[in-house]
Amino acid sequence: MNQLILHNKREKSIVNRHHWIFSGALKSCDAQNGEIVSVHKSSGELLGYGFFDPGNQIACRMFEWSRKPLEIDRDYWKSKFQKAINLRTALFDHNDTNCYRLLHSEGDFLPGLIIDRYAHLLVLQPKILGIEKLLPLFGEILNELGFQHLYIKSKSSSVFLEQLTLSNGWLTGETDIETKVKENGLTFLINIETGQKTGFFIDQRNNRQDVRLRSANKTVLNAFSYTGGFSLYALAGGAKQVDSVDISSSAIDMANDLMSLNQLQEKHRGITADCFDFLNEMPSDHYDMIILDPPAFAKHKRALKNASQGYKQINLKAFRKIKQGGLLYTFSCSKAIDKELFQRIVFSAAVEAHREVRIIDQLHQPEDHPVNIFHPETEYLKGLLLYVS
Ligand code: SAH
Repeated sequence: MNQLILHNKREKSIVNRHHWIFSGALKSCDAQNGEIVSVHKSSGELLGYGFFDPGNQIACRMFEWSRKPLEIDRDYWKSKFQKAINLRTALFDHNDTNCYRLLHSEGDFLPGLIIDRYAHLLVLQPKILGIEKLLPLFGEILNELGFQHLYIKSKSSSVFLEQLTLSNGWLTGETDIETKVKENGLTFLINIETGQKTGFFIDQRNNRQDVRLRSANKTVLNAFSYTGGFSLYALAGGAKQVDSVDISSSAIDMANDLMSLNQLQEKHRGITADCFDFLNEMPSDHYDMIILDPPAFAKHKRALKNASQGYKQINLKAFRKIKQGGLLYTFSCSKAIDKELFQRIVFSAAVEAHREVRIIDQLHQPEDHPVNIFHPETEYLKGLLLYVS
């Protein structure tokens, strides 16, 4: 196995178990892209193992820390997957929910890979060549662990995409790409091929449940609704009327189908529109509850200024128009915007709207998207529940 040697001044974050070795921290390494390397301090002492990625700003992603040499073999990987499965088995009721993230990259100590479960289907999203090379082995291991139907979906926006060689399709157990799943006892239709991300926004599961508990008799706007996840929960919670708004007409078609499937179409309107326009034009004092769950406006730190403006604008519009005593659920899934910055943006919208705003709850990604304490980048979804008077 090739060795990667770190610069002595750049060892600390790696010793402290941050997963990424930036190119500037690298003293020497002769490996090829995608190879597993052993990682050493400049003194030669072994620190652990990682995937080498020389063309990238993140030149190596660590997946193991060990001062003693380890066999990185089939059993090693199997135990990593088993640990990820154990965490999910321990944390929620699988009779009610069979749709969740099975592996959250660095959150499960395996960078470069996401695995989402939709009932009997697993969707694997590789991000680096090192992972891609292991997919045939990972496929066998997951089959052994009881998952037969494995679909590979490369991240379309990934900057690493050009390096990857596999295209979207079945790794093992080809079957229908559509399935019904259960989330907190509610049924959803998922298409893993045409759906956004791996098919669904699984990370909002607990926040959708929160909406369900607070929506009785309310008139609700679900802005940036995608296929109507929050809408179905609001209606299941007894909402009077729910409007789902999304720019994607196929998402709105699916939202309409979902409400029909649940015989809730009478109380639902699916609207294909740009939410910035919709929020401008909608009437004041109409909605008792507004949910704002936009896409990641800031994918990079460079885009921060425009993104902050985007978040401020939609929150300002919602504050101005929501009913007296209304509840606003507002989210950001941009990694580049942390909790504190997000709250400051929402604060500045509240100041400008001249409304009284109180924080009722701080919202977060769910337990199947664990945050690695050594690798804060694994935390990305944040939200606030606000009472507006
Ligand atoms: N809340 C959803 C996930 C939202 S993802 C859920 O729980 O499933 C963000 C959504 O915003 C995507 O469906 C995307 O199509 C939509 N979108 C992006 N820009 C938009 C815009 N300007 N106006 C309306 N929808 C937009």
